[in-house]
Formats: sequence, C-alpha cells, structure tokens
Amino acid sequence: MARSPSPAIRSGKTTELLRRTRRFALAQRRCLVVKFAADTRYSECDAATHDGVTHTARSAGVLSELGEDWRDFDVISVDEGQFFPDVVEFAEAAACAGKTVLVCGLDADFRRRPFGRILELVPLSEKVDKLTAVCAECGRDASFTKRVTTDEALEVIGGWEAYRPACRPCFVRRDEPEPAPARTPTKVRALPVHRDAADSPEPSSPASTGDACPE
Ligand SMILES: [Zn+2]
Repeated sequence: MARSPSPAIRSGKTTELLRRTRRFALAQRRCLVVKFAADTRYSECDAATHDGVTHTARSAGVLSELGEDWRDFDVISVDEGQFFPDVVEFAEAAACAGKTVLVCGLDADFRRRPFGRILELVPLSEKVDKLTAVCAECGRDASFTKRVTTDEALEVIGGWEAYRPACRPCFVRRDEPEPAPARTPTKVRALPVHRDAADSPEPSSPASTGDACPE
C-alpha cells in the first residue's frame, strides 16, 4: 500500500506523516521512518517537523542505502520523498512486498514544476492527500511554494528564510515582471535630434532634463 501526501511547504506534511506513523505504532506495527540525508535543519538523527515534533529516523541519500533492512518493518514512512531519486522503485517494491508505505513530499518546486519523481507515485498509490498551508502574504489556503531567495539551485534545503507558502494570487503576483526603470522624460526624447538647441522654440536642449531654461 502506498500513500503519498503531496502538499505545499509548511502544510504540516511531516507532522501528518509522523501522526499516521504513530497510529500504526500504537497498533503494534513495526515502523521505520526514513528522512533525506541532507535535511539536517532541526535534527541530525530524527525526522522533525517545523513545530519540533520528532521521530527516530534513518537518514539516507538514496533509499537503496537501506539495503534489505526495510523488510523487518511493517510500515515504512519516507519524509521529503521528492529528494529521493529511487522513491518510485522503493515504494513500489515495498508496497508489493506487503508493506504499508507512507511518502510525504512536495508535489511541485518553487516554479510549480513536478518536484523529483513524487508525481510518479500518484498512479501507483491507493490514496493521495494534497495538504494546504497558510499563505504567508494574505492568510488564505496556500497550495504553492514561493522561493524568496535568489539561489537558483533546485535543491535548496531551507526554511522560512528560503521558502514561503503562497496562494494562487500571491504566487502569480511574484511572477509579474519588475516595473521597468524610469525612462528619459518624454519631453526631451520628443525633441528633433538634428535641430540645434538654439533654434528650438522649446526652452530646453536635448542634453538637459527639460526643466532648466537657458539664460
Ligand atoms: Zn496569498
């Protein structure tokens, strides 16, 4: 069984992943939480949420690093699944081996393009939940992730300083081009360039701003 909540940033996806994992743990199921190795924002060895909830986790850069260890568990929960290049093969193999596989991750990057291979899990999953966050700008439900850093690398592990949840209007407003810089005043550009300033009936020359009158 594969389930993949695929929400926006700060939507509580890791919180939801750990909540669901704990329910299985309470039912005496053996649970393994796997987190992405480069994600050490809050803890080196635990999967952690923004509000400080942690769960003992195994770190990995690729899920194949787990070897066959996952077979000892009933439930395998993968945090930040968009970062694992082999998340599809792993989830499918584990699910077909009878395991309950929970994967949380971002469905899209800050450009709203598919993030990693997370969307490939959708047709392979029994259940998908898209969570929403709270828009950092207006407070509406936020389904998108807005980058507020100029770093162009796709895989920037970051928190509030790098990413903000955004609703559609606030996200689209981010994409609007910056206002063009102020152009040369129209009055000056309208002057014929071949005309000598002394012959001009205008009280200005092309080299001036148009505000100063000659003596
Ligand atoms: Zn908004």
